[in-house]
Amino acid sequence: MAKEIKNNHLYIDGCDTVELAKTFGTPLYVYSVSEIREECQKIQAQFLTRYSKTRAAYAAKAFCTTAMLQVIKSEGLSLDVVSGGELYTAIQADFPAEHIEFNGNNKSIEELAAALDYGVGRIIVDGIQEVGLIRALCQEKQVVAKILLRITPEVSVSTHQFISTGQKDSKFGIPLDEEILFPLVEEVIQAPELDFYGLHFHVGSQLSDNRSHLAAVDAALALVQTIHERFDYWIKELNVGGGFGVRYTDADIRQPYSYFLDPVMEKIDAFYAQHQSERPTIVIEPGRSIVAEAGISLHTIGSIKTLPGIRTYASIDGGMTDNIRPGLYQATYTGILANRASEAATQKITISGKACESTDILVKDLALPPVETGDLFATFATGAYGYSMASSYNNLQIPAVVFVENGQAELAVKRQSYEQMLQNEVVPSFLREGASSK
Ligand SMILES: *Cc1c(COP(=O)(O)O)cnc(C)c1O
Repeated sequence: MAKEIKNNHLYIDGCDTVELAKTFGTPLYVYSVSEIREECQKIQAQFLTRYSKTRAAYAAKAFCTTAMLQVIKSEGLSLDVVSGGELYTAIQADFPAEHIEFNGNNKSIEELAAALDYGVGRIIVDGIQEVGLIRALCQEKQVVAKILLRITPEVSVSTHQFISTGQKDSKFGIPLDEEILFPLVEEVIQAPELDFYGLHFHVGSQLSDNRSHLAAVDAALALVQTIHERFDYWIKELNVGGGFGVRYTDADIRQPYSYFLDPVMEKIDAFYAQHQSERPTIVIEPGRSIVAEAGISLHTIGSIKTLPGIRTYASIDGGMTDNIRPGLYQATYTGILANRASEAATQKITISGKACESTDILVKDLALPPVETGDLFATFATGAYGYSMASSYNNLQIPAVVFVENGQAELAVKRQSYEQMLQNEVVPSFLREGASSK
């Protein structure tokens, strides 16, 4: 494992976290590049090399920086982006265009134009209106777009409702209604500007149960069959999304990729064998499972308050600004004192952030050694949806990101400076001193 305890200190990928905090300051995100690579290699072993005609596209939104995308590129994975900004990051990372897929429920004309200009491999169409936009742009640019239709498979998902996306009442995807879906399928098959590759679904996130993926595969295959019957068309690609759960605390079960994908592939292969037709390419889009556990956050403990008979709050020099997940969807984390990692946990401490919100609590009632101001708190598994959701609320600085691998540590993102925080601000002329104030 890339994390170990040596001389009372927490080490990650060969680096002492206490030294990292001294060198780079806190709050700090630290990523073990070895762990990211290992995760990609698990996907290779359990899915890509095990089954032919498969692809895995890393969902960039989990953690999207140029250095991260370069690691993904070097591990041979594809990339899923959802905005012009993520596409721009991919371009800066020299990510091969044909290995990029463009998702999103409200792509702007400018974003679609940028995607077509770069030549992205797939556009995942999320609604009827988008088809018109893409066709018009393709006519203008004299190109053909390779598209999939994202459907809502209408399955229930056992995860927090805020990260469930496969139910019918969703802003994502195209509903399975006869009068909506089939005219659209007919249009995309016939449109000369479009190359219709197939179907996409994504049922939700942080799943430890394969039932929703399997139910969604059933829904998709039923649709595949209807499309074949009505339009004499076999789809070329089926994208089954991401959502593979990780271990934040001991309460979470982390299932291997094969637990989800072996039965998925079995179902799909059986269907195509029965129809004596060639199986399409199968694509997955893991985000969280590639980076969550590879990342930790380091914070320095400041103010400590004991409310007798209630609890002790130890406040850190960050919080919801660098990890909104506890506040946003009651996510749970665990951590340790990185500078006193082998000392006995004899107290219950609540780790609170420094933002002006009562929900800014990172971990509640955690067993720790007696904390002191100046201690270093390490939160585990903050690699996904942490930095990528960070904000400067309260004008707190967005933390730096450090990549470590086999004892080497280097910045991947510098800490935001106060100057950078204000760099886009302008004072309107009518507010400037000397301007009339009628
Ligand atoms: C968020 C998302 C993913 C990645 O989900 P994870 O739970 O991070 O694996 C994949 N595909 C789509 C369309 C998404 O919206």
